[in-house]
Amino acid sequence: MRIGVPKEIKNHEYRVGLTPSSVAELIAAGHQLVVESEAGCGIDFDDDEYRDAGARIVDSAGEVFAAADMIVKVKEPQPGEIALLEPRHTLFTYLHLAADRAQAEGLVRSGATCIAYETVTDPRGGLPLLKPMSEVAGRMSIQVGAHYLEKEQGGRGILIGGVPGVAPARIAILGGGVAGMNAAQMAVGLRADVTVYDISNARLAELDTMFGSQIKTAYASRAAIAAAVSRAHLVIGAVLVPGAAAPKLVTRDMLKTMKRGSVVVDIAIDQGGCFETSRATTHDDPVFTEEGVIHYCVANMPGAVARTSTFALNNATLPFVMKLAKLGPEAAMAADPHLASGLNVSAGKIRHEAVAEALGMPF
Ligand code: NAD
Repeated sequence: MRIGVPKEIKNHEYRVGLTPSSVAELIAAGHQLVVESEAGCGIDFDDDEYRDAGARIVDSAGEVFAAADMIVKVKEPQPGEIALLEPRHTLFTYLHLAADRAQAEGLVRSGATCIAYETVTDPRGGLPLLKPMSEVAGRMSIQVGAHYLEKEQGGRGILIGGVPGVAPARIAILGGGVAGMNAAQMAVGLRADVTVYDISNARLAELDTMFGSQIKTAYASRAAIAAAVSRAHLVIGAVLVPGAAAPKLVTRDMLKTMKRGSVVVDIAIDQGGCFETSRATTHDDPVFTEEGVIHYCVANMPGAVARTSTFALNNATLPFVMKLAKLGPEAAMAADPHLASGLNVSAGKIRHEAVAEALGMPF
């Protein structure tokens, strides 16, 4: 198959759909790769690395789309990219269509086959192409929290791990799924005093087995969260209710009980956030203060560590790209129902029930 990788054009997006090593894998499997010049330059993959892997480098996205049957990206296509899509194309990328009617209508009009990373499933009911980004955001939340707890950043002046004779920071993690567990791993590594709150008893039991005495777990009742917030120096919001806005677990009144210069990192901000006081921020201006508490609410945290994120994403997407390239989209999806659940749009129609429902569009 002819596979194309354009340069991401969304503001501050430095990730790239395929790494040079993924390109080499696909070429070894007999496929042809076309990569836009400087597609990976933001994370130091230069054109020569792609050339050495066997790709043809072209000057524009237009040339990539013209030369390829499948386009592999990271972010949802921007209007200029949607205009380049034709019915013969397969688009494989994050789409997040449910909240983006203009994009959905554009993709329907294009006639292309559009498979969204975020709705591909795995046999355990998980979302394997979202998982790496939750891992990145979860791990990053602790380093970000540690940074903003420093005095110069306006924080309380607390070292996460303490030192001999001085207690470590107390960290409350709300939601012990992929992001929450990864946050806990980092927090434990820094020797913090960590408690993870969840409403899934099964998940709490798994975390208890995984971490042993390194963390405490607690059922996420309103009272438990209120008590946790009042004690914590750092609160990580990592809840997810699939298909719904994040529940507002921490009210403004609860926040008022936190000590000045404490920090909250609301990873769930991409689903509206789980603190009443949260609003989405960007990497350009990542924090604001409410009730004396620093809020970090960046909706695309993995973008800050774009090189790690690109490798992590490619590890997860490459097996699916290989399958799509080998069999073609129809046969690949017929052979793999989990890949088929990624299908959002094809032949001028929305093909994913939940997406169609969210948009009020025919399915
Ligand atoms: P997940 O499904 O693996 O885990 C979510 C956990 O939240 C589950 O264990 C669930 O039981 C728990 N939960 C649900 N309701 C709860 C409640 N009321 N109280 C306590 N716990 C509750 O999800 P995930 O992959 O870890 O993702 C977590 C959030 O992080 C999502 O909103 C996701 O979109 C977001 N995310 C954000 C970024 C970013 O850059 N900001 C990046 C990746 C993921």
